[in-house]
Amino acid sequence: SGTAPAVDYQAILDQIWLEVAPRLGEGKVASYIPQLATVPVAQFGMAVYRLDGQMFSIGAAQTRFSAQSVTKLFALALAYTRVGDSIWQRLGKEPSGTAFNSLVQLELERGIPRNPFINAGALVITDILASCFVGSEIALLQFIRQLCGSTAPDFDLKVAESELKTAHRNFAIAHLIKDFGNLHNTVSAVVRSYCRQCSITLSCEELARAAAFLANHGSMPACVPGGTQILDASSAKRISAVMLTCGTYDAAGEFAYRVGLPAKSGVGGGIVAVIPGEAAVAVWSPGLDASHNSALGTYALARLTDLTRHSIF
Ligand code: GLU
Repeated sequence: SGTAPAVDYQAILDQIWLEVAPRLGEGKVASYIPQLATVPVAQFGMAVYRLDGQMFSIGAAQTRFSAQSVTKLFALALAYTRVGDSIWQRLGKEPSGTAFNSLVQLELERGIPRNPFINAGALVITDILASCFVGSEIALLQFIRQLCGSTAPDFDLKVAESELKTAHRNFAIAHLIKDFGNLHNTVSAVVRSYCRQCSITLSCEELARAAAFLANHGSMPACVPGGTQILDASSAKRISAVMLTCGTYDAAGEFAYRVGLPAKSGVGGGIVAVIPGEAAVAVWSPGLDASHNSALGTYALARLTDLTRHSIF
């Protein structure tokens, strides 16, 4: 950015790859969604998409993986384009400190989820989208395709069906929210749409492109043909702030401490992070740590911000 010395991203990524390669296989693949349990753990990819349009990558950066909760970021952004700040009438923006699929606070806070990145909040966002679009998960997929400039990202219907069959907790959350009057569509429509949304597959390179508008004050980078303003700068700032405080499960404090970037993770092992004014970064490795964040992905991002000095702190 601006006056900082130019960073040799490729050399730094190559260094990270050297450190990560002997550790492939660390962490545990999410198994509560049966279809995700079949993903081989020893995989890793990383991509840095700089706002001048240059892509730097290592490992399996073109392999598509199950985005899962990373899609909550794009769902929030799409909802924001439609209803703006009024979404905060239906959910909060504070870290939860309890598991991403917890029901506890929802009962205490009368159906108002803590933030859009825990499942309860994401279900409310899905509900908002379902009220705005016919086929809201298709609208979300189109939005992601527009952002990454590719029609390759798609639903993985096997994963979606697998999750829907075992989605007892998400059904319970949706029913509780519905009972408090904060869900306007049917529980079954919302949970079904949510499971499809979570099943969207993306590669690191696609994901880094898709998040670039957040690093660029809400606009797709100028180098993208036909790239447009997605959100105003203030809204993009707000979404990034919620990523920093709520984007990495109940380990957002630890993640900010180690990595120092706004980020959103998913149980498929993907993490997307934003370096404001500079780049978007995506990393994927399916082995998760105890807080559900990709173990090697978090390590790689921590090394990236140490080696580039591009954290927000
Ligand atoms: N579809 C997953 C669920 O609702 C997403 C979880 C995640 O990636 O955090 O359980």
